[in-house]
Amino acid sequence: MIQVRNLDVRFGPNHAVRNVSLHVARGETFGLVGESGSGKSTVLRTIAGLIESWDGAMMVDNIPLGRRRDRAFFRTVQMVFQDPYGSLHPRQTVDRILSEPLAVHAIPDAERRIARALDEVALPRAARFRYPHQLSGGQRQRVAIARALVADPRVLLLDEPTSALDVSVQAEVLNLLSDLRAARGLTCILVSHNLAVVAHLCGRLAVMQGGQIVEELDEAALREGRAVHPHTQELIRLSRDLEEA
Ligand code: ADP
Ligand code: MG
Repeated sequence: MIQVRNLDVRFGPNHAVRNVSLHVARGETFGLVGESGSGKSTVLRTIAGLIESWDGAMMVDNIPLGRRRDRAFFRTVQMVFQDPYGSLHPRQTVDRILSEPLAVHAIPDAERRIARALDEVALPRAARFRYPHQLSGGQRQRVAIARALVADPRVLLLDEPTSALDVSVQAEVLNLLSDLRAARGLTCILVSHNLAVVAHLCGRLAVMQGGQIVEELDEAALREGRAVHPHTQELIRLSRDLEEA
């Protein structure tokens, strides 16, 4: 469903992503993990069409991607960002926020779709006419997920979707994402600096450092301690420390 080959991204002299290749099968959830500044968000944002200064080749659903994305692309691919507050318009109600993608894609039956989207992310019906500041952090992220899903995309790009949330609600939102991708057969890329988060949802993952993929692992290799790169081992130690804390 997603193919990235030899991706390079430069911000002026900063060579932020170097020769990154990855592929994600239909219905698979692929993880990108690594320390802050390693280039994870840049990879995701470049796939999403938010960054134009890249070289390499990318395909989604076997369609090669150019510099600009058309409307059909955003019907297929949606992104959820780390900070639900920053990504939701403060002066729009939840109803308005969820209406917008439907209007953009001229999708009928908004009433029913919005109600279904709210149900899917387990938000109460009463949340529909609230503003983002009237919701909790976890509820805001549920709105951002509902917005991403309301027009029925097939690919979901998740950039640290739980990092800005209280620890107590992180697991709830991760479990919600896990249920939704199974129910909808979504193809996902999940970015996190936290290996435990990625390992929880992803059958396969890549470890990034300094803009490069330094190791690719599947669930079994991770579980059986077959990670070889020192940065991967460092991330494993960090996530164990977090679990014990
Ligand atoms: P991560 O998500 O792994 O923390 P990022 O992809 O955000 O890392 O950043 C990778 C590198 O690219 C960093 O050096 C960062 O400063 C730089 N960078 C990211 N976005 C931009 C941008 N829009 N303009 C300039 N530099 C950027
Ligand atoms: Mg990031």
